[in-house]
Amino acid sequence: MDFSLTAEQTAIRESISGICRRFDDAYWLAKDQEGTFPEDFYQAIARDGWLGICIPQNYGGSGLGVSEAAIMMQAISESGAGMSGCSALHMNIFGLNPVVVFGTEDQKRRMLPPIVAGEEKACFAVTEPDSGLNTAGLKTRAERRGDRYIVNGQKVWISTAKVAHKMLLLARTASVGEGDQKSGLSLFYTDLDRKHVVVRELEKMGRKAVDSNELFIDNLEVPLEDRIGEEGKGFEYILHGMNPERILIAAEAVGLGFAAIARAANYAKTRIVFDRPIGQNQAIQHPLAKCWMALEAARLMLMSAAWQYDRGLPAGAAANASKYLAAEAALEACQTAVITHGGFGYAREFHVERYLREVFIPWIAPVSPHLILSYIAERVLGLPKSY
Ligand SMILES: Cc1cc2nc3c(=O)[nH]c(=O)nc-3n(C[C@H](O)[C@H](O)[C@H](O)COP(=O)(O)OP(=O)(O)OC[C@H]3O[C@@H](n4cnc5c(N)ncnc54)[C@H](O)[C@@H]3O)c2cc1C
Repeated sequence: MDFSLTAEQTAIRESISGICRRFDDAYWLAKDQEGTFPEDFYQAIARDGWLGICIPQNYGGSGLGVSEAAIMMQAISESGAGMSGCSALHMNIFGLNPVVVFGTEDQKRRMLPPIVAGEEKACFAVTEPDSGLNTAGLKTRAERRGDRYIVNGQKVWISTAKVAHKMLLLARTASVGEGDQKSGLSLFYTDLDRKHVVVRELEKMGRKAVDSNELFIDNLEVPLEDRIGEEGKGFEYILHGMNPERILIAAEAVGLGFAAIARAANYAKTRIVFDRPIGQNQAIQHPLAKCWMALEAARLMLMSAAWQYDRGLPAGAAANASKYLAAEAALEACQTAVITHGGFGYAREFHVERYLREVFIPWIAPVSPHLILSYIAERVLGLPKSY
């Protein structure tokens, strides 16, 4: 068993870290305060071809695996870009996987190259105010009228919708009760036509650089050729991409956790109180050491999950476990980084308060820790389904 990164994976980490060094903590702090999308960072990553890391080479990408994408996302987050940097790109990296796997040749040629080139941004429109984690209960309706669908409904928490040209939309094409709930959903990749979609940004705790929004969809026309795969199979297609998404979120969380404890360790070496560096106290050292161990364990778990996924093995348990462990470890690391800085941990200029605000995102989304625990209890331990 070989736990080392390949030469290519090491080169990916180094190249990405090199780009990220041009966008320092001051850049991310300013973006967070202004609430503006990090377009120059996004374009720098696009220019070197990284947005297509997982897209097949035929469509302009590099055709690499989730393992490589996880290394990339960890490196971005760890640079101090955190969730602001990762969420700006997240949708480009693996979001269009349903198109890669279930799209027609025409759709792939039409939809993938602009995403790889950074010419088009997309958002992922699934969550609804009244269904939450119960995706199968969503109500946004797509009604077939000849060669098009007419979509009406509401979405919530849709990230990057303010800047996106396209949306990957999950909507109901058969009423609840006509067959089972999950089979009534269909997937579309279509224009975010602002004449028919009102995008209203939500005020939120952190990651202000990357918007999250309510969407009010009113008679949006979606051409038939924008439906991905078969009608009624959208839920299945979305499920297909869930494991890689959990792995990438885990990598983003781990990167943020490592960034936090690196800052804390640096501060602990230089902050002198009672005539010695605070880092000489075990009360400061030990929590940071525990955080490093938990983050490294989560990193190994997520790389194991990515390895399983890239080999076509069932990766559900490992992907869910890695998302859970990474988020818990990162949350602890960000909190520890704040208390290591004492009062200055609460000041914007030391950055760890921003990390702490951002770490709640991988903790909550795209699936909560509760539902991961239920998944492991049910699918791994064979306990009865609790919801
Ligand atoms: C910053 C941010 C960005 C996001 N970006 C996107 C995006 O781009 N696209 C998108 O579609 N969505 C996005 N989301 C939505 C995110 O995926 C949801 O918030 C998440 O899935 C949880 O859904 P909910 O908020 O409706 O929680 P709810 O489903 O209302 O759950 C509330 C709480 O109850 C718990 N709970 C519910 N049912 C059970 C049960 N049976 N057993 C135990 N506990 C339970 C949950 O674990 C949770 O803690 C984003 C969210 C955030 C915060």
